[in-house]
Amino acid sequence: MSLSDRYHLEYLRNRTAEMVYKRVEQFLHEHREFCPCEQCVLDLLAYMLNHVDPMYGTSLLDPFDPDSAKEQRVRIQIDLALKAGARKVTETPNHNK
Ligand SMILES: [Zn+2]
Repeated sequence: MSLSDRYHLEYLRNRTAEMVYKRVEQFLHEHREFCPCEQCVLDLLAYMLNHVDPMYGTSLLDPFDPDSAKEQRVRIQIDLALKAGARKVTETPNHNK
């Protein structure tokens, strides 16, 4: 029996990923010059998720605290990763390959 048959793995949430998705949504709205094709946006998300600390929790037992020092640190990491990631994707896009 696999773990996912036995446990509700969907209760595991990565708060960092949720914050990254929201931030990129806002970024795409504000920066129309950034290529919005699926490849570029997924590349940007992958870059960011690889450069920001994950914050896993269980939605049942571990409510997130939006004011925690950790969350504020992650917010700063997200902004830095967004700048670097957007530059990288823009300079060497994988679309049209
Ligand atoms: Zn593109």
